[in-house]
Amino acid sequence: MTAARRQTVFAGLDPPGAWPPTPRALRPERLALGLDTLPGVAATTQRKLARLGLATVRDVLGHRPRRYEAAADEVRIAALRQGEEVVVTGRVLNVEKRPMRGRRRSRIVARVDDGTATVSVTWFNQPWLVDRLKPGTEVRLRGKLGRFGFEPRSYDLGDEARATADFAPVYPAAEEIAAATVRRVVDAALPLAVHVPDPLPAELREREGLALKRDALTAVHRPRDLDEAETGRRRLAFEELLVLQVGIVRRVAERERTLAPALGEPGDVIRRYREALPFALTPYQEQAIRELDGDLERTVPMQRLLQGDVGSGKTVVALYALLRAVESGRQGALMAPTETLAEQHFLTIADVCLELGVTFALLTSSSGKREREAALGADVVVGTHALIQEGFELRDLAVAVVDEQHRFGVEQRSALGSRGSSPRQSRGEPTEDQGGRAPHVLHMTATPIPRTLALTVYGDLAVSEIAKPPASRKPVITSWITEDRASEAYTRLTRLLSEGRQAYVVCPLIEASETSLARAAEEEAERLRRAELRDFRVGCLHGRLKAAERRDLMARFKARELDVLVATTVIEVGVDVPNATVMIVQEADRFGLAQLHQLRGRVGRGAEQSYCLLVSRAKEELTESAHARLQALCDTSDGFELAEVDLELRGGGALLGTRQSGLSDLRFAHLRRDRDLLERAREVSPAIEPGPLQEAAAALFAEVEPETLA
Ligand code: ADP
Ligand code: MG
Repeated sequence: MTAARRQTVFAGLDPPGAWPPTPRALRPERLALGLDTLPGVAATTQRKLARLGLATVRDVLGHRPRRYEAAADEVRIAALRQGEEVVVTGRVLNVEKRPMRGRRRSRIVARVDDGTATVSVTWFNQPWLVDRLKPGTEVRLRGKLGRFGFEPRSYDLGDEARATADFAPVYPAAEEIAAATVRRVVDAALPLAVHVPDPLPAELREREGLALKRDALTAVHRPRDLDEAETGRRRLAFEELLVLQVGIVRRVAERERTLAPALGEPGDVIRRYREALPFALTPYQEQAIRELDGDLERTVPMQRLLQGDVGSGKTVVALYALLRAVESGRQGALMAPTETLAEQHFLTIADVCLELGVTFALLTSSSGKREREAALGADVVVGTHALIQEGFELRDLAVAVVDEQHRFGVEQRSALGSRGSSPRQSRGEPTEDQGGRAPHVLHMTATPIPRTLALTVYGDLAVSEIAKPPASRKPVITSWITEDRASEAYTRLTRLLSEGRQAYVVCPLIEASETSLARAAEEEAERLRRAELRDFRVGCLHGRLKAAERRDLMARFKARELDVLVATTVIEVGVDVPNATVMIVQEADRFGLAQLHQLRGRVGRGAEQSYCLLVSRAKEELTESAHARLQALCDTSDGFELAEVDLELRGGGALLGTRQSGLSDLRFAHLRRDRDLLERAREVSPAIEPGPLQEAAAALFAEVEPETLA
């Protein structure tokens, strides 16, 4: 920034160059300034910070320290002992980059000497360090002596020793930018915290005994002790949760101004549907249906979340809801996140609809003009997000079901809900035979959501839960083995195949295009056909197949014309073949917990005992969190327990996708620890008057963009 610009920005405030500036008045606009306005922030640092999403003073002030570090003992290298966390200082003698198994992984090994001895120091997956660790560079390392020599947890290069110093915040660092640099920029920005306005009404702040926002920010960045840091964090967390809750109150109010058709009592179609089911509904399914019926009687559009683990029988309930629409002379639509899943649902629904004389259609982005037209008039339409695309308008949609709803963006979900909606006439209550225009919406999810998260993200939805699957299901026996013993997995697989069972082999998740994923899967299928699975019929399912090819493949697998499906994660949801009782997941450590649980749900669908074999890379190559994930899957098949583990490991945003209802805006709130704050925010949210909190809530929900779907 030019001197002239800094001059105008700070005009009337400070003598040029004075830092920190003294506040004469609250100047919130200064928070929107770029980091070039801060002293001592180089242009290259700015660019790197921008990649972390830190572009303005406000961003930097809102950057939460990941943890705080207390002092560690400094020791001489000669006195290093295995496993003790210490700080060592020395000079780099030499450095080299060593390859590791797996293309994307690397190891930097430097020899460091402090005059008493030399130690070899290993950094994992930070290849850029090789250029910064020139021989002669002074390094300060905090970490322990482990399997790979000294393994630093934090480090400082040259004379910027801070990250390893005494009690201090540690910011999430990223490629090429040292935690110490982030700390320096925060230092420069902190004086401007005095300009941070407090959106909480003063009266509320007093009643709840909360600090001013600016003081909370300072406490979080530069605490005197950990208690102070935690008190500051909770103040900021409360505000975040309150904004979310205010947003939820707004959404509910909006919905109550919208009309939906009231559907009356279940009738003949429903009676025949129940009779045609080959099994009795579980009490949980019956309960969900009762709750749903209660919603459908009303003219306020239903917004209900049906939660139930993979295989718990949600589809039966969904179909019930769709048929309630049909019975009242209107349409029902079911939206699924992928074509494969839409097709699966279509096949399931086809049988039932044929029997009941209900017309049905499939609509995906590959549907042609004629299919589209047919779909427009069908009683039940199953499809992908093509259902909510411009130009496709169902004539009389009364019930919409969104399957695996967390895979859609909030806006896509609400797009279905607002199809043809019309605001309630001002004050005019709906009349008896009114044909309201917004559909009732049932959201389904197999990703169990811990209560705190449910209140946060789905606070505006009523929740029905299928807590237990139909009794006939046996838990899948899950085991975890490392690559070097992968052949044992295939021995077990082939034995079960010989007994007439079928199996899935899930290919590693690589960060690459759908095309290269598809190619990798094809290659793996080919390899297996020649090696471990040469005596069996192997098909390959991936996202690059045409819809017809995929349908054909699934039909052949279902008809037992194939023994094994080698697949990418396209089988993650919806595939339902009870005779498939074994699944091998390759490089399972690359997958998330929820995803592995979903994948595992593809087996264990019949009466036979099912198995899931998680093959991971060598244990020493795994992160702590990968360890914890794989172990948790072996220990339990309870989706709720796994969701809690996942929440602990990754936080809420990661659990449900970052774009979910402002979850990604929760920086300071911790959904597990702050449950009390959340409950309190819920209590006070309805009384929040128009003002900065309301504005923040409106902005939060307006910002949510539709997620792009594969
Ligand atoms: P979800 O969608 O919750 O993963 P599904 O609805 O696909 O589960 O059901 C899984 C399997 O269980 C299906 O084969 C379905 O026919 C069967 N099923 C559903 N409800 C029952 C029930 N009450 N008793 C026995 N089997 C059931
Ligand atoms: Mg399902």
